[in-house]
Amino acid sequence: MLAVTLNAAQQCASLIKESNSIAVLTGAGISTSAGIPDFRGPQGLYVTKRYDPEKVFDIDYFTRDPKPFFEFAKDFLELETKIKPTFTHQFLVQLEKQEKLIGVVTQNIDSLHQLAGSKNVLEMHGSFWTSFCLNCDKKYSFEEIKIKIQEEGVPHCSCGGVIKPDIVFFGENVKHLNASFQVAHQSDLFFVIGSSCVVYPAASVPLYANGNVVIVNKGKVKLDGPNVVLQVEDDCDSFFREVAKYVDNV
Ligand code: ZN
Repeated sequence: MLAVTLNAAQQCASLIKESNSIAVLTGAGISTSAGIPDFRGPQGLYVTKRYDPEKVFDIDYFTRDPKPFFEFAKDFLELETKIKPTFTHQFLVQLEKQEKLIGVVTQNIDSLHQLAGSKNVLEMHGSFWTSFCLNCDKKYSFEEIKIKIQEEGVPHCSCGGVIKPDIVFFGENVKHLNASFQVAHQSDLFFVIGSSCVVYPAASVPLYANGNVVIVNKGKVKLDGPNVVLQVEDDCDSFFREVAKYVDNV
């Protein structure tokens, strides 16, 4: 009898089929093929546009002078109008629709998960999805803030206050930390997708996974503790396109 060796995509597909509560941590790697550069990578926004991250994402600097942040924000949102969620984003939406996926934890601020249609998304570093007035706390939607930044540069509320997108700045706590740990803890299969797991506390989320862990990232990821059953050093989209062939209705 011939021994059948399953390839990584087939292995991944059977893990998906066997599980009922999948959770995911995504990082910059899931969005690079959509055209969002990894901020810290060689083509990152910091490098290409020479933004000073100390000014752009520093909360103390922002309260003194929000201009550098909104210069970045304007370019970032302009870039967003040209891009679409990737195959991997869509793949995760399908898993959620099939009630297999219980939650997506992301380090990204591009909201591509929500734009793709994912419902339970925990954005640890926040995003432009919601914004609020620093003076009266009035909430603004993604569409509203996009228009305001484009038209006004620094967006102001009708009360005169500056509107701040719900992005986590240096000096601020990450969001949804306990909920992220919880979703990892409740999962029976946990994916790390496009994250090298070096930025804490996001990198500690997979450590709460009880079940099997699958890593799909271009570079090698070292996780101490969790049960990593599969590590794929490949582009997310090419890998999940392959996986989709072996999973029904995805
Ligand atoms: Zn206001």
